[in-house]
Amino acid sequence: MFLGPIFAESPQVRIAALPENPAPGEPVTIGLVGGEGGCQAILQNRRGQQLAKATFFPLAPDKNGQIVHTAILAIPSTAPAGTARISVENRLGPIGGIDLSIASRTFGTEEIPLDQRNTDLRTLYDPQKTAEAAMLWGILGRTGTDIYAAERFMPPVQSTRRTSFFGDRRVYRYTDGSKANSIHAGIDYGVPAGTLVQACGPGKVVLARFRIVTGNSVIIEHLPGVYSLYYHLDQIAVWEGFMVDTGTLLGRSGATGLATGPHLHWEIRISGENTDPDALVARPVLDKEAILSIFNSF
Ligand SMILES: [Zn+2]
Repeated sequence: MFLGPIFAESPQVRIAALPENPAPGEPVTIGLVGGEGGCQAILQNRRGQQLAKATFFPLAPDKNGQIVHTAILAIPSTAPAGTARISVENRLGPIGGIDLSIASRTFGTEEIPLDQRNTDLRTLYDPQKTAEAAMLWGILGRTGTDIYAAERFMPPVQSTRRTSFFGDRRVYRYTDGSKANSIHAGIDYGVPAGTLVQACGPGKVVLARFRIVTGNSVIIEHLPGVYSLYYHLDQIAVWEGFMVDTGTLLGRSGATGLATGPHLHWEIRISGENTDPDALVARPVLDKEAILSIFNSF
């Protein structure tokens, strides 16, 4: 694995990020020595505008006994290619930073005609829908301290048939002919209703209930700020507070909520940002040994 460079503005503060050349949708893990829990990592473009933000949590002591803190953030799928910077701040202001280069990536496009039921689901005002959205953001914006998952994730279904991809630029066409743009936040597997859906990694079920737009939904917390989401299930087999392992049965796929046919929508959120699930199947989101080895080699 490539290890990012160390850069900091004071000798007491050391910061590392990996990978050094992430693509839009990829997670970046940041290590910090000489800071404290509650520090923030803020991804900024070259004009200093904020693209993403994550909170540090304690990981482990380095060889000198200093606590290494970690934050995980995702490069938004809309981030422009080129130079960016991760600024590390405590409550008084910046304590250091590290530069990185965002790779270029293109995403697919798709236009989806919606019938009257699905048009209504997206366009009609419904206080219940608003309350459900607020509750979802309350969960996804929370950074805990429990580390449940360290290994690579496993796809939640056996099928490799995908009907929609991460980051697809979507145009929904409503029944009255008007259109709305959207970015697809996860992967859609085109599996028949009733397909077994399994947890992609160990964690705690933090939501298991019906939601108007996403139907029967399950959300698992894996790491501080890292969540996996499973939407449109026919049946849910777990409950909130339930601890799962990789492969635990979560339920059966279906077409509940806003769906044009049976499929499983699988999504990963990191500090609220949608993240490419394939990136977490390819490598662990929190490679503790890699982070510690950077600091221990100095
Ligand atoms: Zn989807």
